[in-house]
Formats: sequence, structure tokens, C-alpha cells
Amino acid sequence: MSVRTVGILGGGQLARMMVLAGAPMGLRFELFDPAADACGVQVAPLQVAAFDDEAALAAFAARVDVVTFDFENVPARSAKFLAERVPVHPRPDALAVAQDRLSEKTLFQSLGIPLPAFADIRSRDELAAKVAEFGMPCIIKTRRLGYDGKGQFRIRSAADIDAAWDTLGSQVEKTGLILEGFVAFDREVSVVAVRAQDGEFRAWPITGNWHVNGVLSASLAPAQLSAAQHEAAIGYARTLAERLDYVGVFALELFCRGDELLANEMAPRVHNSGHWTIEGSETSQFENHLRAVLGLPLGDTRMLGHACMLNWIGQMPEANAVLAQASGHWHDYGKQSRDGRKVGHATLRDDDAAVLADALERVGGQLDRGEQVAPVIEILRG
Ligand code: AMP
Repeated sequence: MSVRTVGILGGGQLARMMVLAGAPMGLRFELFDPAADACGVQVAPLQVAAFDDEAALAAFAARVDVVTFDFENVPARSAKFLAERVPVHPRPDALAVAQDRLSEKTLFQSLGIPLPAFADIRSRDELAAKVAEFGMPCIIKTRRLGYDGKGQFRIRSAADIDAAWDTLGSQVEKTGLILEGFVAFDREVSVVAVRAQDGEFRAWPITGNWHVNGVLSASLAPAQLSAAQHEAAIGYARTLAERLDYVGVFALELFCRGDELLANEMAPRVHNSGHWTIEGSETSQFENHLRAVLGLPLGDTRMLGHACMLNWIGQMPEANAVLAQASGHWHDYGKQSRDGRKVGHATLRDDDAAVLADALERVGGQLDRGEQVAPVIEILRG
């Protein structure tokens, strides 16, 4: 394999982990991000410019062999601008669909992927009418630019309609708004999958996810699902990838309610719920994403045993509690502490669910993170 340079739009922790996965394959990287302190700069050269700076984008395109993303909210126009100069994966059209909750959900519906009720909302009156139709609770979200539970408002009572409109109504022109029926889910899962340029498709074992305030807190793979649910969820992901002619890794987030699976959203990039694949799978999501965008054969997505990922939000805890465990792996993204910010994660893995549960219990106790590990331990101890 001759030396190739991968350009990544967005220079955060996902770009950083792609660089770390690509280095053994002899790949070079160039990152592009508006923030000079994006944490990827610690491992690869970074061009600091706005995502819509066409002169900077053109210079960037001239230095790389292929472009991909660590961030889905890059303006679709910029992605298209780059695609006229250099191969871009995933395709800018696929990115554009995933950037807009309304077009994403309309696509799910057209593909027969089950999902909660949804409606485009343009006025307060329309909101009130649709809340009456869907019933409460329900959730209003910005169509674009929302992530990690940001740009969302839960409507639990009639009084919340005004409060929701006061908070988000001004976004109608800017980002658009969507109302969704609330799913009283038993659990949340995600399919992390990869599709190659020749159409080959592979998925990792489905991951169970726990969120706190809309932000991922813990993941466990494999998720506890029936064989039928597992097959259905992977089938939805494959259908979606084929329709979008998608190249690279993506995640499909789903709610489980009894036997039902309902799609929430698609992330057109490597995903936080797939971080466990670095140590827990034959080929990590980061490596397979690079293989896909470079047109190389995909690696196996099998895993052994069970893997749990714990997200560190706001500030890094003490590493030793994790490092002292037999299969404890520590990831510090090298970011400044800040409330609500993803600053690192840990992965623990074991062939035996009970051994992993014991390790998580020790980590939870030593780091005072009992609540974070409790739901994972409960599943592992069955
Ligand atoms: P999102 O940004 O859409 O992924 O939402 C963040 C989190 O909010 C999800 O992972 C769920 O925990 C919760 N959530 C979002 N939409 C819904 C919904 N329609 N019903 C129930 N919970 C939701």
C-alpha cells in the first residue's frame, strides 16, 4: 500500500482515534477544524479554518487523497465543494440526509424501518395540533445541528407547549423543528456497521446504550436482544446503507420497547457507541472506516466475550482504578475539562460476563461512579 493521506473534516476525538488506527497501516492524515485546540492536533497536522472557507478547503483537498468526516454538521455545500476536487466518503448526499432529522425519518419510513410518529413543525399552532394528535409526552427537536440531547424540549403537559415554543420557536427558520412521539423504551441500542466501496456490508454485534441527560454514559456489547431483533436491526442498517450508497462506518440508533424496535437516528460517521471495538473486536470501527474510504478489504467485525465502554464527561477521573483491571483500557482525549464535554472513555472486556461485572463493580466503587456502572452490571449478572 503506497503512502496515502486521509483528510478529516473535524479534528475532535473521533478524528484522533481514526489517526491512531491508521498509523500502523502507514497512513498520513490532515485534519480540518475551526478550533485551533481541537484535540486531534496532538496526533496529526491541523488546518484551522471555517468549514465554509472555500480557499482553505481547496488547499486542503490538494494535500489529501481522500476526505472523510469526524463531524456530521459540516455544511453540505462544503462537502460537495470538496467532492468536486477529491473523493469524499461518505457521499455528501448521504451526509445531507443524516443532517436533517426530517429527511432522515422520511427516509426510514420509505424503507419500512419502524420509527416513532413525527411531524415537521412550522408554527406554535401546528405544534399544539400535533401534540394533541401524538399525545404527551412528546419531544420537539431542532431538525438540524442538534446532538447529545441539545436543541430538544420534552413536552409533558399542555403548559409545556408555550415553554417549548419560547425556547425553540426562534429556530423555525434557522434549523427547522420536528416533533416526535415519546417512546417509553425498555432500552436503547445501536447498530454500528460499515459498508465498503464494492457494497460489502458488515456490522459489529449490536451495542446496548445508556444516556444521562441525552449524552451517552455507558455501552455494553453485545446487547441483550433476541436473535430476531438482532437480525431485524442489522437488516435495517443494511437497507439504509444500500439506499444511501453509503461508504464508511455509520451508526443506527434504535429504541427497544418489548419486541419492537423503533429507529431514532443515524450518525454518518464512527460513533461513540462503537468505541469498545478498539479493544473488543477483531477490527475496530476506526480501522474499518479507513479501510472503507480507501477502498481496501474490510476487516472482521467479530468480538469475543463482552465489552463495556464508560464515557468520561466533564473531567477525567483517576486512571488507576481502570488500569488495575485485567482488561481495563484508558482513553484520554487530551481535552480541557468542561461541563458536559466528552473528555475520554474507558473500555473493559472479558470473555466471562460475571468477571466483567466484578471489574465494573470495583471501578464504579473506586471512582464513585456506582450509578454509571449499575445498569451494565445488572445486565451482565442477568
Ligand atoms: P437524540 O439526540 O435524538 O439521539 O436524543 C438523545 C437521547 O434522548 C436519546 O438517546 C434518548 O435517550 C432520548 N430521546 C430522544 N428522542 C426520544 C424519543 N422520541 N422518545 C424517547 N426518548 C427519546
